Amino acid sequence: MSQSPTLVIRGLKASVEGKEILKGIDLEVKGGEVHAIMGPNGTGKSTLASAIMGHPKYEVTAGEVTLDGENILEMEVDERARAGLFLCMQYPSEITGVTNADFLRSAINARLGEGNEISLIKFIRKMEEKMKELEMNPEFAHRYLNEGFSGGEKKRNEILQMSMLEPKIAILDEVDSGLDIDALKIVAEGVNRMRGPERGFLIITHYQRLLNYIKPDFVHVMMQGRIVKSGGPELAERLEAEGYDWIKEELGIEDVTVGNDEEEFKVPMNTIAPESLMKK
Ligand code: ADP
Ligand code: MG
Repeated sequence: MSQSPTLVIRGLKASVEGKEILKGIDLEVKGGEVHAIMGPNGTGKSTLASAIMGHPKYEVTAGEVTLDGENILEMEVDERARAGLFLCMQYPSEITGVTNADFLRSAINARLGEGNEISLIKFIRKMEEKMKELEMNPEFAHRYLNEGFSGGEKKRNEILQMSMLEPKIAILDEVDSGLDIDALKIVAEGVNRMRGPERGFLIITHYQRLLNYIKPDFVHVMMQGRIVKSGGPELAERLEAEGYDWIKEELGIEDVTVGNDEEEFKVPMNTIAPESLMKK
């Protein structure tokens, strides 16, 4: 598991309710790299994350996605998690009746596979350590998953899941939304601690602010369901100073959105826990 992973996306097209949203995405994310996907609302950023993770609402109509050479488009959502993909959701789901700790433990065990389960004592130690790093109140371990959590607590909880699961490729969708500056710093530190050659990141964000704390190696701008511009960290800085208008002008784009509205869609998905837990 320690070798450097590679996620390859080629010509990816995806539709929602028969409407094409992703119009051919090409992207390669390797271990050790942090890629930021930026763009105004309604340009297809969350759709890209959902398509990679296999959300049933988003139908892939063309292209390929591989992780270390394996076709992940043929895998179920939980198989993708087991293969090492993790999505930090823009809108994490709440599950009544399942505690955070139970959820995490079965997600980890599903990732490790039968016969390799983590011992209870190791699990508790690791969870306590990670919760401390994220400055989470220990009682959150025993609360029902995300139920009654504030926006910031949900995001911190997503980062906790990520630190426990140690994915190969982590996708973070608007992890900064709804966070005050202190929570933002804690979340960013959590991400930075996990950077390393064994892991790649895809960080989706609408604002440049997060990228002051998580320095990306590559920055991509999405408009109209496509990556229209790629560059280094200097691209994010220019976007912060000048907004998105200069790109629109340069490319002759009037409407950046891809659907017929700019409404935000909340599509919660449980990406990591095994079905058995969800049926409880
Ligand atoms: P972003 O994350 O960049 O704001 P999204 O990927 O969420 O953009 O949405 C892009 C477009 O895709 C939306 O404007 C909408 O037309 C369409 N879309 C996305 N998710 C859904 C959904 N669950 N149901 C219907 N349309 C959707
Ligand atoms: Mg979004």
